[in-house]
Amino acid sequence: MKQLEADVVVVAAGVAGLAAAIAAAEKGVKVIAFEKAATTGGTGNMGMGLLAVESRLQRLKQIALTREEAFEIFMEYTHWRVDARLVKAYIDKSADTIDWLEAMGVEFFEPFAYFPGANFTWHIVKPSSGRKEAEVAAFMMKIMTDRAKELGVQFLLQTPAKKILKEGGRIVGVIAEDKSGEAIQAKAKAVIIATGGFGNNPDMIKKYTGYEWGRDLFSFRIPGLAGDGIQMAWEAGAGATEMNMEIIYGLPEGDPLGALNTAFRQPTLLVNLLGERFMNEGIIGNTTFTGNAIARQKNRCAFNIFDEATKKYFEEIGFDSLSVVFPFTKIDDFDAELKQALAQGYEHIFVADSLAELADKTGINPDALQKTVDEYNKACETGRDEIFNKKPRYLRSVKKPKFYAGRLFPGGYGTLGGIKINYKTEVLTKEYTVIPGLYAAGTDACAIYGDSYVFVLPGNTMGFAVNSGRIAGENAAEYVKTIAK
Ligand SMILES: Cc1cc2nc3c(=O)[nH]c(=O)nc-3n(C[C@H](O)[C@H](O)[C@H](O)COP(=O)(O)OP(=O)(O)OC[C@H]3O[C@@H](n4cnc5c(N)ncnc54)[C@H](O)[C@@H]3O)c2cc1C
Repeated sequence: MKQLEADVVVVAAGVAGLAAAIAAAEKGVKVIAFEKAATTGGTGNMGMGLLAVESRLQRLKQIALTREEAFEIFMEYTHWRVDARLVKAYIDKSADTIDWLEAMGVEFFEPFAYFPGANFTWHIVKPSSGRKEAEVAAFMMKIMTDRAKELGVQFLLQTPAKKILKEGGRIVGVIAEDKSGEAIQAKAKAVIIATGGFGNNPDMIKKYTGYEWGRDLFSFRIPGLAGDGIQMAWEAGAGATEMNMEIIYGLPEGDPLGALNTAFRQPTLLVNLLGERFMNEGIIGNTTFTGNAIARQKNRCAFNIFDEATKKYFEEIGFDSLSVVFPFTKIDDFDAELKQALAQGYEHIFVADSLAELADKTGINPDALQKTVDEYNKACETGRDEIFNKKPRYLRSVKKPKFYAGRLFPGGYGTLGGIKINYKTEVLTKEYTVIPGLYAAGTDACAIYGDSYVFVLPGNTMGFAVNSGRIAGENAAEYVKTIAK
């Protein structure tokens, strides 16, 4: 078996792993990072930006949110059912982390809010093109990788860690396997786990969250995210946390549909299979709340319905609900995009000449649908939604064919939680005792949201990944120095 030696081994080089590796190496210890994929960056390569509070960029924009306020929002949102010290440590570090990233060469746009009413905490990475678009955080991943290499971090790509080694209660290294199948033993005084959760493991998703991928959940499945780090940590004695999906919603695999997808993310009429409304469609931009609401309907699905007049409004005037992630303000030719999607066999958009036909095609209860549409059209006429108090500007009647419906399901960025840590990111047993030398960061240990992603403070998961990774790297390096004395 090949032998390697380091002070700190980082298991994975995604967002949290890179932050951990840099932070540890900056403290002068020797770091090896094992990464399963052929590239570094993990899911971070698909994201846009991270949370910070009281950053330099927020000061420049006169965004007045303080750390104390953000902490309060966080804890009230989660009903204090999460580790307050960990939340505090993360929020308190977040502004300094923006400075830290900028010093490496990462640039940011001004901070954004994901949806109306959210806080302006989302620091979107500015790529060299200057274009604000999906996946720009890949630039940050590249810069972080370069910085780690400059500090002497050794990356072993396509070399997943398989087991954590423990002797006399202390962590002493890992076993990994290179792409030829050869085992590697890497001795280390500390190990940091950051393997990004189990978003590509439908069995674990079913077992720990209850969702059945492909039936009532269509979350992102990032190759390689199989729950390895969580399993390895549990085997090494780590306690388990609550585990959830980072729920959002959408048309299954709707992203390639472009502007057509955005047409079915508008605050138009939303009904369930019973033909009833179930939420104020005006808040559809809060994708976590919408995903939650859809998840509690029959078959965990819902239908976004509009008529020909609204379709024309989307073409001529534009969309009511705009998003940084889906950068379409209108749809130029709805029929052409629809024809293309249907020709490709897309099964989640329906067109009908009558409401009865729409009910027949979608499986929505026909009588209830007619009743709901009648009630809803009355609300559109009077400007008063008696059921959910939806804002009048979003009340668009459903009157004249054709009628269109998009079938929405819960989606998700990935999973949340698994490994029990404290606010220093030290891994704890189920008895709350520290496992000396073992740390965890990012999604594997992200159990700070309770039952729902704290999207009111956007950029939260990447923010937690970078900041918890940084905290883990710093503490692991200090620990290594302490035990060397
Ligand atoms: C489309 C999309 C957009 C997103 N946008 C945002 C955003 O704008 N803001 C935000 O806050 N969040 C966003 N997120 C979520 C965010 O990207 C993740 O929360 C973040 O990347 C988690 O970091 P992590 O280090 O825990 O995991 P990851 O970044 O996923 O890294 C995990 C790494 O572990 C590796 N790995 C797995 N098993 C092993 C093993 N056994 N050995 C070695 N390596 C292993 C994987 O290959 C991967 O590289 C987005 C997610 C998606 C899917």
